Amino acid sequence: MLNIILFGPPGAGKGTQSVKLIEKYGLVHLSTGDIFRANMKGETELGILAKSYIDKGDLVPDEVTIKMLESEVNKQENPKGFIFDGFPRTSAQAVALDQFLSGRGTEISGCVSLIVADDEVRVRLLNRAKDSGRADDADINVINDRIQIYKNETLPIIGHYEKLDRYSAVYGVGEIEEIFKLLTDVIDSL
Ligand code: AMP
Repeated sequence: MLNIILFGPPGAGKGTQSVKLIEKYGLVHLSTGDIFRANMKGETELGILAKSYIDKGDLVPDEVTIKMLESEVNKQENPKGFIFDGFPRTSAQAVALDQFLSGRGTEISGCVSLIVADDEVRVRLLNRAKDSGRADDADINVINDRIQIYKNETLPIIGHYEKLDRYSAVYGVGEIEEIFKLLTDVIDSL
């Protein structure tokens, strides 16, 4: 199986690139943010809980997020592999992901980071808010909190994948096709 973590700050282009990558490699796309938003739209119990964190820019608690992601992974009978987009975001999530993939006899093939500077992230998210209707993209204070949480809680898990020699980074600013080429070069070399 080919199991890729697409890593990077909010607004790095993970969603955009994931759509292209699943098409090229025939993978299942699992975006925790998308799953939470679908639940928020459907006003499920999970959605109502998630909304109270997401609108403020906070992370949804690990136990909720990990359980949800594991159940999404287990829904797939014979996947060629997964693209994890927006997960893991904490070290507890990274450890849990390794554990449940190993329970299925597989593992992370690579963690690829899209490198985008904070100022570019701010501009992209405020622009995205115009179409996305996402409350967490429309407020600069929430955006700044999300960037800070990314640095404090999410960036350190890079070390986990570096130790396994499974970490790479590509520059995430430029034409979508150029960035896609950089990503596929990395993935093809895994
Ligand atoms: P995203 O669409 O990836 O930017 O995620 C939007 C929001 O969903 C985040 O700001 C968090 O509040 C929540 N979220 C998404 N993925 C996770 C995760 N792996 N752990 C905790 N919260 C998450």
